Amino acid sequence: MKEAYVTATRPTGAHSVYLTLELADSEASFTGQPGHHTVVSKPESEHGRQSAMPYSVMKLGPTRIMLLVRGYEDGNVSAWINDRVPGDTVSVRTDLSGNLTLQSADRPAVFMASGTGITPMVGLLDQYLEGGGSDATVILGDKRQETLLGTELLEFLGTDSAVDIEYVLSRESWAGREGYAQEHLSEIFDEIDDSRDYYICGVPPMVNGTKDLLAGHDVSEEAIITEGWE
Ligand SMILES: Cc1cc2nc3c(=O)[nH]c(=O)nc-3n(C[C@H](O)[C@H](O)[C@H](O)COP(=O)(O)OP(=O)(O)OC[C@H]3O[C@@H](n4cnc5c(N)ncnc54)[C@H](O)[C@@H]3O)c2cc1C
Repeated sequence: MKEAYVTATRPTGAHSVYLTLELADSEASFTGQPGHHTVVSKPESEHGRQSAMPYSVMKLGPTRIMLLVRGYEDGNVSAWINDRVPGDTVSVRTDLSGNLTLQSADRPAVFMASGTGITPMVGLLDQYLEGGGSDATVILGDKRQETLLGTELLEFLGTDSAVDIEYVLSRESWAGREGYAQEHLSEIFDEIDDSRDYYICGVPPMVNGTKDLLAGHDVSEEAIITEGWE
């Protein structure tokens, strides 16, 4: 673990914050890919509760990373992270890891997320577009409009005509899509097949529900890249 300064924080959504961290040691650097995660550690553990948690990076530079963390009011690490202010220090793992690695910018891609699962998807989408990707669909599910996360950066990347963004809300009646994200795949695509890569991240019921649906359409395992959490 290495020490990093909090250089910027910006509250967003309900109890969530964008956080930029810069490594204190000028000789140190981050290694890994967009879509991968670091681990953030609290200085001391409280009442034996785990004091280090993984967080995906939204943006990754040699000595800086940007995180998006949803704070649970009584959460051990997440609430502590939400209370950080610029100038504070945190401990982070510099060797990022994870399953979510961009496979190809040459194929159409679907970035499917629920809740904070949008964090690695923003990094992957950014990399996909930088690599010349021309057909990306982002499907983001959450409970209500006010709990949707990462939409500022998503809308920014979505100005590229290669990107289509679909929001799905499960607990709010609104003009857009309602229900769970995976329930809309068949409506969004004429055919669910192997012609695109499917990146999936979020709560296990969404990740597993989507995997089952894709398997039912004979999509090969190589085209399905997943990570589940919470
Ligand atoms: C690979 C990976 C990447 C991730 N990336 C992100 C990310 O980019 N952004 C993000 O916000 N999160 C991310 N997460 C989730 C993150 O790691 C933490 O799980 C999350 O922030 C909760 O941490 P916490 O300290 O609040 O947990 P906890 O202290 O465990 O609390 C979380 C909630 O669970 C409740 N709880 C705790 N213990 C129990 C119990 N025994 N029974 C019932 N309820 C309980 C608490 O009351 C609280 O409401 C990621 C997870 C993984 C695995």
